[in-house]
Amino acid sequence: MAKNYYDVLGIQKNASQAQIKDAYRKLVLKYHPDVNKNEDAKVKMQDINEAYAVLGSEEKRKQYDAYGPEAFNRQFSQEDIFRGFNFEDIFREMGVNVNFGGFGSEDLFGSFFGGQQQSKNTGQSILYRIDLGLEDIARGAKKSISVRHLKRCSRCSGKGGEPGSKPVKCRRCKGSGYMTRQQRSMFGSINTVTTCGECGGRGTYYEKACKTCSGKGGVITTENVEVNIPAGVTNGMRLRLESMGDFGPDGDGDLYIEIRELPHPVFQRNGDDVIAMVNVPFYTAVLGGRVPVHTLIGGKKEIEIEKGTQPGRRILIRGEGIKRLNGGSIGDEIAVVSVELPKELSREERELMERFRDIGESRKGDGKKKFGLFG
Ligand SMILES: [Zn+2]
Ligand SMILES: [Zn+2]
Repeated sequence: MAKNYYDVLGIQKNASQAQIKDAYRKLVLKYHPDVNKNEDAKVKMQDINEAYAVLGSEEKRKQYDAYGPEAFNRQFSQEDIFRGFNFEDIFREMGVNVNFGGFGSEDLFGSFFGGQQQSKNTGQSILYRIDLGLEDIARGAKKSISVRHLKRCSRCSGKGGEPGSKPVKCRRCKGSGYMTRQQRSMFGSINTVTTCGECGGRGTYYEKACKTCSGKGGVITTENVEVNIPAGVTNGMRLRLESMGDFGPDGDGDLYIEIRELPHPVFQRNGDDVIAMVNVPFYTAVLGGRVPVHTLIGGKKEIEIEKGTQPGRRILIRGEGIKRLNGGSIGDEIAVVSVELPKELSREERELMERFRDIGESRKGDGKKKFGLFG
């Protein structure tokens, strides 16, 4: 049975282009094979892409609405559906950059995204997610990560030829690097441009292929990369390391480091401030005194508790928060008072508590005396 693309994207039939895009983006983030390791996810992703390729294009959507799912699917091939769609550009525009396990993505794009071609032969950008604790975020950190990517070949500088070997014009594409094919379809006459398979889009090849990369220009390499994480980054933020992605004859892709903020056992983040509970014994809350609090950077610190402090009171500890991104100021820590009540009392403590209670009761009783039963 033909798929209903609106159902696939989970949207209404009258959804706007913005809503369609938004729905697609959410689904990509959920089902992309890089994120979702379920075998079903690949199939699901294929459906999602297909639905978006149609509904995301005003023209194709009109056709789809007019024909209905069944007829549309009979009329149009997968090739028709994906024509003119460059998922790489779409992903980039949406801010979705995905690491395909560090390999050049062409083959994966080919199988997952319906075989559309890239117009330029630039390398794929890579997304690397990095987990950071609040301590690292508070003052910035240096992290060493291991990235598996297609690295520009050092022997031939990415040109693909043995040193000294001369480039020859590709006969198949006549040096253009592309093959153009004209086709008629329901969408009119369409030119499909594909990368020349003979020269890999370069337009030339070398008499002798580079021994290191077999003429590909890039070699799959695992590299250690030092990343400077600035203080104050937030969850989901991406740092771009230019040209550190996959090799491409027209330029290397970028490496994006996506920040994933780990939940902290003690602190909750609120912008540049951090919030923590501070346990205060009930007698300190009543009488006043000093108690230790955790701080994000400096370990423990003592703070003053005023007499008569109530549970839930917020105490500001200046400068113990997170350093602002691109700015010198540092946020604060907010200690929220949690009053500790004793669960068990010694005999002496109980006697004191009872006495405390009796005094309290009698004070309360003073006003009632004249109306009381025992008066
Ligand atoms: Zn080489
Ligand atoms: Zn060629």
